[in-house]
Amino acid sequence: MLGLIYPPKCPFCGRILERGEEGWCASCQEELPWTGPDDGKAVDGCDACLSPLWYGDAVREAVHRYKFEGGRIHAKLFGRLMAQCLQDRWTGRADLIAWVPLRPERRKKRGYDQAELLARRVGELTGIPVGRALEKTRATATQSQTGEDEARKSNVRGAYRALSGLDLTGKRVVLIDDVATSGATLAECASALRQAGAESVVGLTLARAR
Ligand SMILES: [Zn+2]
Repeated sequence: MLGLIYPPKCPFCGRILERGEEGWCASCQEELPWTGPDDGKAVDGCDACLSPLWYGDAVREAVHRYKFEGGRIHAKLFGRLMAQCLQDRWTGRADLIAWVPLRPERRKKRGYDQAELLARRVGELTGIPVGRALEKTRATATQSQTGEDEARKSNVRGAYRALSGLDLTGKRVVLIDDVATSGATLAECASALRQAGAESVVGLTLARAR
């Protein structure tokens, strides 16, 4: 019934899906900037950064819509793409899925934390336990609107810490965010996780900048 009232749309281009199309449309399947199996190069602080997509125009718009409208519907599909990417490209062990958190004030205003929704979806599909591990201690400017790499680093420096008393000794953590631009946020969070004892940290995002 719901399908008749709200026909499923492609989250990337907004077109109503045709019969036989599931998740996203055939032309996006063809044209989106999908990454290849060898594109998981390491970023500062993470052993790898895995993302199914490059952060291009259609992806940027979809992520923006995801943040500010209809988060839960998009999380299902985006989380599925990310879970698939992790399963295809990461052969190492993973003990915990954590995410880059919003500040509590921001989360309350938006009604959800988009990275947490992605983390929970990836956990559901992979069977890896999901847990709150980090907190954001101060506001930061939006990374994608912050100029140089150096400015991005200082924008997030010291902005995240592991929950007090959290012991991650020997744990291999998958760290989730929606987008990696310079990788500075992932690096900052990865360092907080390592300070809590994490043995390794793998970044997993829907998209990353080239
Ligand atoms: Zn589409």
